[in-house]
Amino acid sequence: MIIAVDGPAASGKGTLSKRIAAHYGLNHLDTGLLYRAVARTLLDQGEALTDEAAAVAVARALDFRALDEARLRGAEAGEAASVISVYPGVREALLQGQREFAAQNPGAVLDGRDIGTVICPDADAKLFVTASTEERAKRRWLELQKSNPELLFETILADVRKRDERDSGRLAAPLKRAEDARLLDTTKLGIEAAFQMALGLIEAELAGKK
Ligand code: C5P
Repeated sequence: MIIAVDGPAASGKGTLSKRIAAHYGLNHLDTGLLYRAVARTLLDQGEALTDEAAAVAVARALDFRALDEARLRGAEAGEAASVISVYPGVREALLQGQREFAAQNPGAVLDGRDIGTVICPDADAKLFVTASTEERAKRRWLELQKSNPELLFETILADVRKRDERDSGRLAAPLKRAEDARLLDTTKLGIEAAFQMALGLIEAELAGKK
């Protein structure tokens, strides 16, 4: 079984995907980490994010099993990831590995921006998880404030807007709801309620396909 979960930054899709994978006993791949890893490597090597050829070379050599999540989290890698993820060659280089991951037994939950539209268009169930821009910025701000109390909400709101624009506006595999994806708006939902709602949507989708 393959479940595709897409949505904008800070929509809650990552947390939900982990819980969905645990619930069904499936593997889980946070595909944002792949783009973050490519960007992080370029930054560490002192190469410009505008160097498309260098980004493609890093993406081709990326080992999916060696993703250091703790190092790849954070605003800098996220922002850099959204810059290099516009390159079609980078996306192409990461495509096959994602499909192979999805095809492994016993199946997988993949979360990202283009899972339901490009990577796994035949997924058994697809969710598009979203929340209002303000709510997503608030969640991220509350999280980041723990380590940086000076941080302004307005700064984060502007960052979230910029990332949304870049992810939705790019030509290669833009962030977009697949036509057959079920919409889950988490604006007014806590994580437990959102999880129960997600399970309900997935079960409805699976029942419809029997
Ligand atoms: O989800 P996360 O914030 O970790 O993703 C970082 C960036 O990687 C996104 O803003 C997006 O530009 C890119 N990305 C993508 N396609 C995916 C997952 C992430 O383009 N499937």
